Amino acid sequence: MQNYDVIVIGGGHAGAEAAAAAARTGASTALVTLSRETIGIMSCNPAIGGLGKGHLVREIDALDGLMGRAADASGIQFRMLNRKKGPAVRGPRTQADRKLYRNFIQLALETQQNLTIIEGEADSLQLNDGAISGLILKNGLEIGCKAVVVTSGTFLRGTIHIGDQRIAAGRHGEKRVEGLSLFFESHGFALGRLKTGTPARLDGTTIAWERLEMQPADADPVPFSLMNDTISVQQIACGITRTTSETHKIIEDNLRKSAMYSGHISGVGPRYCPSIEDKIVRFHDKESHQIFLEPEGLDDSTVYPNGISTSLPEDVQIAFIHTMPGLEQVHIIRPGYAIEYDYIDPRELTSSLETRKITGLFLAGQINGTTGYEEAAAQGLLAGLNASRRAAGLDGVVLGRADAYIGVMIDDLTSRGVTEPYRMFTSRAEYRLSLRADNADERLTPLGQTLGLVGPDRWARYCGIQTHIDQVKAALRNVNLSPNEADLHGLKLNHDGVRRSAYDLLSFPDIDFARISAIWPQFNGLPERISNRLANDAQYAVYMDRQKADIDRLKRDEKVAIPAGLQFSELPGLSNELKLKLGKHRPATLAEAARMEGMTPAALALLVAHIHMIEKNANRTNVA
Ligand code: FAD
Repeated sequence: MQNYDVIVIGGGHAGAEAAAAAARTGASTALVTLSRETIGIMSCNPAIGGLGKGHLVREIDALDGLMGRAADASGIQFRMLNRKKGPAVRGPRTQADRKLYRNFIQLALETQQNLTIIEGEADSLQLNDGAISGLILKNGLEIGCKAVVVTSGTFLRGTIHIGDQRIAAGRHGEKRVEGLSLFFESHGFALGRLKTGTPARLDGTTIAWERLEMQPADADPVPFSLMNDTISVQQIACGITRTTSETHKIIEDNLRKSAMYSGHISGVGPRYCPSIEDKIVRFHDKESHQIFLEPEGLDDSTVYPNGISTSLPEDVQIAFIHTMPGLEQVHIIRPGYAIEYDYIDPRELTSSLETRKITGLFLAGQINGTTGYEEAAAQGLLAGLNASRRAAGLDGVVLGRADAYIGVMIDDLTSRGVTEPYRMFTSRAEYRLSLRADNADERLTPLGQTLGLVGPDRWARYCGIQTHIDQVKAALRNVNLSPNEADLHGLKLNHDGVRRSAYDLLSFPDIDFARISAIWPQFNGLPERISNRLANDAQYAVYMDRQKADIDRLKRDEKVAIPAGLQFSELPGLSNELKLKLGKHRPATLAEAARMEGMTPAALALLVAHIHMIEKNANRTNVA
């Protein structure tokens, strides 16, 4: 029988990062997936990043993951979203050439040391004394292992809906899987149904582009990865069209034929990424919706119409698409559809993404109730790392809410669960001034290096860049101006007699690096990555000091562990509802308990007092 330390099931975005992370940290790893060819493919929109999601990509990159470098190698329309807002909420995004993206991921996995790719369907898992011991493939083959990461995406009992048509599938043209759902059910896991949707694909050669407004890429594309200085892929524009009153009428007249509105779908869909029929119903007053026409590749004429995902019948889709300017004659390559699938309640997981019920079993990606490539990849990386550590007998690594967006997401999932597909937003992070996309490396690369996740090339580059930043920061602090001297340079400062350093001056909203370099020419010609980082650090310095006090308090609470055997039902003073909730979800730390829905300050105080009492008694026993 073949044996590995770690087996990763699924070659999507979570699976690719999980397999690479486990292998990077030294575990002999097998990636078992339905088809080699579909490893790293994008099921829906050909784009990486965006608001909140771009932060996740930068964090994955800081831990030497694949997604940022794959996006740089395949990005055909880089755009920094929220450019006019503060750096903390700017969202790097790129449209990607599907083929280039997939090829990058496949090559990275094929050449990854310690990693074997096996084509096959994982049907069940083997246990020994409550812990993972192996995997059984549908063809009967058994493979031994110490830990498993399941990243099965939308494939668990997946059902595609197009009008009243129902097709058993994991994704367009791919079979669904059932064995793993049965395994989870038979082991008492809480399963639910969610849904997501995708729009029709259009033949770009039949679009009247000349009549459309075009949106160009940024003139200065900013790479996702620290490993890249520039983007060498050709950049293209995408088109913009709009729904019309006729589009809305056709959709309204046919609502009952939509799989979602006819009651065929029970799963809940993503509120933030609604179908076109949802938009028409929910935003009834809106006369028109903007639709981006995004080419799927440089040598591919397929176009992804972003904003019209639907489960309406094919003839209705054709009719409403033809009512939009520029699309009157468009040829529809394949219709849009909705897909429903099983997910596991993520409260079944600990913060290291291991299931509470089975030691050595980790889950990551869409199976945990999230939606999106970036959310999946970020979980995959952490689950792969922790599976590798479990196999080596080491403790799991947990990222906290103050460390990373990855920590925010995992904490949200494991402590609150989901009622709809979860996607990342900057608003979910309470410490977003500290968790910026531009400082992800500083936050995470040293940790990644200690854990063995970060390779020598990245470490050397990180250290070089960081040293440069520290040197320039010291030099900026070393030069200063009095208010009178500032006047001479056209800078308006308070005449309070205080000399201000160049670094302090950078925190003023109207003083940028160009003005600083005009006064002190030694700062001219710095790489943009360095000058932007310093300007952002300076701008947020005062807020960061304030935020640090909150973060310290959170870290203290995160260190207070709730004893594993604590009987919440016996805790006096707690409401029955809270006792039940605490007993069911078993928060590991005080901070986790504090974030639970329904937790009150009074209840938290009771919990703290009880934990202190247990600790005191334990100390007394030890002394005796
Ligand atoms: P996937 O990328 O789905 O990968 C799952 C992998 O597991 C596949 O490689 C599959 O072959 C493999 N697999 C499954 N079961 C087994 C098994 N038993 N044995 C071996 N291999 C197995 N996201 C958005 O952000 N916005 C959207 O609008 C959006 N729309 C979507 C529309 C559709 C129709 C679909 C299908 C997905 C959509 N998504 C959307 C979701 C996005 O595709 C996923 O969030 C993301 O791909 C999840 O990554 P994952 O790694 O968890 O799973």
